Amino acid sequence: MEDLENLKAAIQGKKILLFGPPGCGKGNRSRDLEALGLVHVSSGIVLRAKVCDEPDSELSRKASHLMERGELVPDDIIVPIIMEHMNGTECRTNGFVLDGFPRTKAQSDVLFSQAHIDFVLYLDVPRKFLLYGIVEGNRRICVDCATGYSDFDPPKKESVCDRCGGKVITRADDNIKIIENRLALYDEQTKSFLPDIASKANVEILPIIVSDEEVIDDKYLKHLKGQVYRVETDQGGRARMLNLEGMRNRLYNLLAEKFM
Ligand code: ADP
Ligand code: ZN
Repeated sequence: MEDLENLKAAIQGKKILLFGPPGCGKGNRSRDLEALGLVHVSSGIVLRAKVCDEPDSELSRKASHLMERGELVPDDIIVPIIMEHMNGTECRTNGFVLDGFPRTKAQSDVLFSQAHIDFVLYLDVPRKFLLYGIVEGNRRICVDCATGYSDFDPPKKESVCDRCGGKVITRADDNIKIIENRLALYDEQTKSFLPDIASKANVEILPIIVSDEEVIDDKYLKHLKGQVYRVETDQGGRARMLNLEGMRNRLYNLLAEKFM
């Protein structure tokens, strides 16, 4: 635990951007970073909260219509909302983790012209495993704190969030057709400016795969015991993926290497 306290102190005030496709685990990595004291700024959560709080406003009607179909909300709606959060005292004092923003080149340009980002974490998850987690894993989310669950990482009590006791539900936009649309938009509009981001900030890759069929040295596997589960690859082979705890450890190790 002393290590964790040192890590918290080392990353206090840092500004971290999470980058990756829908379903790559941005929400859960944000939870892990929040546990270290950073403020979580999530465009999806902020938008869903706005729609819930003011369902009749023009902005909410426009946004919810687009979100239901897995389309992007226009830049002139999302940019001011996110920039306002980021410029607030809480984010400036504690640092923040930005999740789901930027998603377009225009959003990225505004962000990098107005904020210094300490580093970008790219959550690199192969397509097959994204769909596997969301659809076959039956992805669910806590309505109150947005912690993500699936059949691989279920809540201890069905439909109740481990973290805050909130209700755990399936998102309306987590059906195969809409996800495919969200993934296509990611490929077209979001992934394409990653090289541009890499020219402005330090990008680190955080893989979810431990290894494919290849033999893993026993000591390593023992170390990972209980942190991996197996899934099928596109070729019908087997891969080992890190679960929530395994990914948290991998993230904390990376941060420790970087900042301590
Ligand atoms: P996911 O990453 O799982 O697709 P989010 O919760 O981040 O989901 O976003 C949900 C929806 O909110 C998106 O499908 C989109 O309609 C809207 N949205 C979120 N962030 C942005 C953004 N930066 N720009 C435009 N639309 C956004
Ligand atoms: Zn919760």
